[in-house]
Amino acid sequence: MPKPDSNLLLDASTQLAGVLGYPVRHSLSPAMQNAAFRAMGLNWVYLAFEVPPDRLPDAIRGMRGLGVRGLNLTIPHKESVMPLLDGLTDAALQIGAVNTLFWDGGRLIGDNTDAEGFLRALREAGIEPAGQTVLILGAGGAARAVAYALSKAGCRLIIANRTPERAIALADTFEAQTTELTRESLREVLPSVNGLVNCTALGMSPDIDSTPPIDWRGVPDSTWVCDLVYRPLQTRLLREAAARRLKTVDGLGMLVHQGALAFERWTGLPAPVEVMRQSLRISD
Ligand code: NAP
Repeated sequence: MPKPDSNLLLDASTQLAGVLGYPVRHSLSPAMQNAAFRAMGLNWVYLAFEVPPDRLPDAIRGMRGLGVRGLNLTIPHKESVMPLLDGLTDAALQIGAVNTLFWDGGRLIGDNTDAEGFLRALREAGIEPAGQTVLILGAGGAARAVAYALSKAGCRLIIANRTPERAIALADTFEAQTTELTRESLREVLPSVNGLVNCTALGMSPDIDSTPPIDWRGVPDSTWVCDLVYRPLQTRLLREAAARRLKTVDGLGMLVHQGALAFERWTGLPAPVEVMRQSLRISD
């Protein structure tokens, strides 16, 4: 028998938010957003909806018809949702992907909170990237958000990716330099960078022994190392960086802050960030 939750009182005033994905059952967002609503005493609920790609237009019409207050989008809907909306933020437009829908008056707007979430996480860790040179490993969706964020923050970017064509395409958008994702090529650029961000899937469970090809001997002591992978939190990359006493930032901060920004877009209230962080309880 499920345990009754005295905090969850759904009634005729309850406001609805949620996430659309396919699949979606792995999503951490319902736990995080419902914890935030409870902590703020809001009569809101956040649900996960498994929406196959061909039903996305129906789901967005449903959101409009039912007055759903806010949605997150995850794979495979982040790009295909764009033509179904009334407007896009600059971040969503430049990154080419939407992870959050919110209402601006009667207009349904697509935003991408990954970029600002990443910057908030860096700054929370005491890193101010303005004016720095940053090496981005990867050229997928997360790398696009990070490149947008760092380029807006005034960084010089170097991008390395397994598939070089994708690195070149990303570099063209953000006026970045590229190099190869090999030990030899990275060894040449590492002495000149202030920080590096792993935006590849290397190190992610179950392949936890995989790691980007970094030769730590040429890395200055002041270099910071951020890994977006959050399963596990302490990746091999971060463990190796910490062993050399470099400053490290794990993937939890970005995950929490992209959700906190969505909460703020929907409710207009400051997000209870620590409650949201605790709700994730990611085991390492
Ligand atoms: P994606 O769009 O599928 O991109 C995957 C990236 O990883 C590509 O650059 C890909 O290179 C590279 N890659 C995959 N396997 C590789 C391998 N064996 N060797 C070298 N490169 C490899 O995925 P994404 O959405 O950008 O996510 C990337 C990572 O960031 C994931 O671990 C994800 O969980 C994490 N992430 C974290 C947050 C957060 O909030 N902390 C947010 C978003 C993503 P190719 O182009 O050559 O295929």
